[in-house]
Amino acid sequence: MLIGKTAVVTGASRGIGRAIALELSRQGAFVIINYNGSEEKAENLKEQILKEGGKAEIMRCDVSDFQACEKFFEDVASKCEKIDILVNNAGITKDGLLIKMTEQDFESVINLNLKGTFQCMKFAARKMIRQKAGRIINISSVSGVAGNAGQANYAASKAGIIGLTKSAAKELASRNITVNAIAPGFINTDMTDCLSDKVKEGVVDHIPLRCFGKPEDVAKAAAFLASDGASYITGQVLHVDGGMVM
Ligand code: NAP
Repeated sequence: MLIGKTAVVTGASRGIGRAIALELSRQGAFVIINYNGSEEKAENLKEQILKEGGKAEIMRCDVSDFQACEKFFEDVASKCEKIDILVNNAGITKDGLLIKMTEQDFESVINLNLKGTFQCMKFAARKMIRQKAGRIINISSVSGVAGNAGQANYAASKAGIIGLTKSAAKELASRNITVNAIAPGFINTDMTDCLSDKVKEGVVDHIPLRCFGKPEDVAKAAAFLASDGASYITGQVLHVDGGMVM
């Protein structure tokens, strides 16, 4: 259980982030629901958490913006005594073949997925170091582990998150802070809704468990990594992908 813990979940207004925020709340954590564009959805999630007897706040921040991130964590610090758990979940795709990919599509994906994760880790770790405790969970992807045609920008950002995770795990272990990544496979959210049925069928053929995952599958893994049961696990990549990569 996570009673008395404070968790910050980035990109928690929809999809996997929403499921993680809900799961951490159900385990007793006070949750900061970060969002960027979907204010109404973030509000709805807060209302659901309050209705279930949990505690949550919504806070807007574009996590690709360095200064906004610094301010966001200052605001979190003024609201909460501690940050026990940080889940870096906010992410986007801008798919295209390498030779056709624009500089802007490469940069915007790296800026949010990878630089955003770095920034949030940096500002949260400052507080966690003072607390001498913390859990950081970064959402990578099967694409970052194995690569994926049409996703050079996204795969690079998600592979970068794995390097970031392992380096930070080594730096922060002596301060009792664990840093792990989750590499989801194909999960049913807005991000994968845009795939055609034909593409989805092709993907399922490569999933040993023969179906897409649910946001809740990733949420349970995140809650485990945040729990006392995972206190001796750091620098790892937990695959939640129905067996796609093994
Ligand atoms: P999603 O349904 O598209 O949701 C994306 C979330 O990211 C939204 O809550 C969105 O918030 C937030 N976000 C986008 N830009 C942001 C910004 N600049 N600052 C802060 N938040 C921002 O995506 P998802 O499928 O749940 O994916 C969540 C994470 O899992 C991503 O990192 C993704 O790469 C990873 N992942 C997903 C899959 C999959 O199959 N779905 C597989 C592997 C990994 P607003 O709407 O409020 O802007």
